[in-house]
Amino acid sequence: MSKPNIALIGLGLIGSSLGHALKKNGLAAHISGYARSAETRARAMEIGFVDSVHETAQEAVIDADVVFFNTPLSVIKSLAEDIIPGLKDNAILTDVGSVKACVLKELTPLLDGRIHFVPGHPIAGTEQSGPDAGFAELFEERWCILTPDENTSLIAVEEVSKLWRGMGSDVTFMDADHHDLVLAITSHLPHLIAYNIVGTAAQLENDTRSEVIKYSASGFRDFTRIASSDPIMWRDIFLSNKDAVLEMLGRFSEDLTALQAAIRRGDGRYLEDVFTRTRGIRDSIIEAGQDTDSPNFGRDK
Ligand code: NAP
Repeated sequence: MSKPNIALIGLGLIGSSLGHALKKNGLAAHISGYARSAETRARAMEIGFVDSVHETAQEAVIDADVVFFNTPLSVIKSLAEDIIPGLKDNAILTDVGSVKACVLKELTPLLDGRIHFVPGHPIAGTEQSGPDAGFAELFEERWCILTPDENTSLIAVEEVSKLWRGMGSDVTFMDADHHDLVLAITSHLPHLIAYNIVGTAAQLENDTRSEVIKYSASGFRDFTRIASSDPIMWRDIFLSNKDAVLEMLGRFSEDLTALQAAIRRGDGRYLEDVFTRTRGIRDSIIEAGQDTDSPNFGRDK
């Protein structure tokens, strides 16, 4: 395929970053966009990360060779039902959703032999949302996991991989269920823990007038960054990846109980062993180029 016409359905953090990155790297002949609200569509045109916006998803995809779904997980199926009949033959659908088995299961029965679907998930993001949050470098030197199954067209997989590589990502492949299990521990559980600890502290501040906010720089505020992530997106992630999240939550609770018991019995050796191992994990993430080693995550305060 020479340069494809690309449609972006959903123009928030990920949709706008795709638009910026596709433009920066000259990967699309035309980028059309659709989002639910007129306000977001107008803002996308003003910022200029799309070439055209449309009042319906069907209109946005008329000439598209590749369509990216960049919306919350719960609306992808109904958007796909709306657009598939009007797509060109051999058009490729792909998505960026944070859970993969559910999307594959929902979209596979809708494909009519003319259309291909390549499930994807860029391991890149921030806690911000909306069309102003995106930037062209978001995907650079970050993994993009594609989870095709045995029925997925290899040509479509190659086209989607080429686009992600063109935006600076390292593309890798995984079975969808395995992806969901890995992401349950690396992404979904940390978000659940952050939502919970911030919720508990907020309640405590209410109940006891304690000074949680004032002294937040001692650790709490790093959880608040994660816990400020979009509520709709994260509601959908937990509902869509229920089994894997519950499995990881079970393991987490067992380990937490072991730490609780060590504190109770004054077992400093156990605590020191666990904390030494976890510091090693941080070092490996920095070595793998997935974070900076600047103190305080590079913050100046
Ligand atoms: P976002 O900033 O909240 O943007 C969501 C976009 O979807 C908005 O443009 C919104 O339109 C649109 N939308 C919502 N409901 C819609 C509907 N019914 N029809 C059409 N458009 C609709 O979210 P995001 O962070 O970009 O996340 C999008 C997807 O990327 C999610 O599936 C998420 O799992 C995945 N993801 C996110 C991250 C991350 O760090 N944020 C990382 C990797 C993958 P309006 O603005 O008009 O409401």
